[in-house]
Amino acid sequence: MSEDTERPQQGKLSQQERDRIGARLLEHGARLPCPRCGGTHFVIAEGYFSHPLQFKVGQLVLGGQTIPCAIVVCTKCGFISQHALGILDLMPGEEPARERK
Ligand SMILES: [Zn+2]
Repeated sequence: MSEDTERPQQGKLSQQERDRIGARLLEHGARLPCPRCGGTHFVIAEGYFSHPLQFKVGQLVLGGQTIPCAIVVCTKCGFISQHALGILDLMPGEEPARERK
């Protein structure tokens, strides 16, 4: 992926936004290598996963509560990890998360 010259397209996350996610992950201690291959290089995807919460087994409800997640991809093996934006204090328009320990 390109560096500074990348421009936001069609709502994709800009490089600046992805850099912010990366910095926040480091602040929260997400520094270990890939759990599958031990790789140490990752990219942050240009969009989010937003998992719909389900409250009954066997019933799929869309359009309700979700958990928006940043997507981190290992560049060696393709393993994908996800990080809840709320925990990283990256949810727009929300109060920062409670104190952690
Ligand atoms: Zn990997």
